[in-house]
Amino acid sequence: MDTRRILLVEDEAQTRSVVQAYLDREGYWVTAVGDGAAALDAFEHRSYDAIVLDLNLPEVSGEEVCRRVRDVSDVPIIMLTAKGAEEERIAGLDLGADDYLVKPFSPRELVARLRALLRRAHAESEPQRSRVTYGPLEIDLAGHRVWLDGAEVDLTASEYKLLVTLSRYPGRVYSRMELVERVLGYDFEGYERAIDSHVKNLRAKLGDDPKEPRFIQTVFGVGYRFEAQAPTL
Ligand code: CA
Repeated sequence: MDTRRILLVEDEAQTRSVVQAYLDREGYWVTAVGDGAAALDAFEHRSYDAIVLDLNLPEVSGEEVCRRVRDVSDVPIIMLTAKGAEEERIAGLDLGADDYLVKPFSPRELVARLRALLRRAHAESEPQRSRVTYGPLEIDLAGHRVWLDGAEVDLTASEYKLLVTLSRYPGRVYSRMELVERVLGYDFEGYERAIDSHVKNLRAKLGDDPKEPRFIQTVFGVGYRFEAQAPTL
């Protein structure tokens, strides 16, 4: 029985009750609220293992809730966004949301994503490993070295940082802007193209075919994610 506590923030009553029913059935302990102010209030008074957050909320917006939560906590956040609102999704990821679902979504998919996020959050709290292996790819985090099929790959500092950032949470989508901040360390829109160049170079060094990459996947219109090749834990 999973008694992890989920904060569900959704102003549409029907969506809220359907999602709540699914989460209840999974054995989660769910607090469901209908607006951003109630979400922040709930968050202040209790700790949660994850937050499912609608982006379009009356008064205090989902973005604002996300920002305020991120100021103080790394709790996993899944954003629920309107169909076609690509800008919103990117904004959500830039604000530090871990994942997003586009409405209308399947509650079963939400449950699956939530489960994955909680697993990831759990792995994150375990001691850092100094060497990670993803199939043919090996990264020595202490020595800052990378091998592919046993042969050392010569990466620039930015390429290495990009690889480590993406591969730390396989499957997590990173927006270009987020990668700019994490890899290049500054925050300026014009540098998003620089990330594309680094990805291109990194792919070339990892033998990734841009059309069918093994490791660095393009998330169209958003950014990139790392595909773990049979991770050895
Ligand atoms: Ca809404």
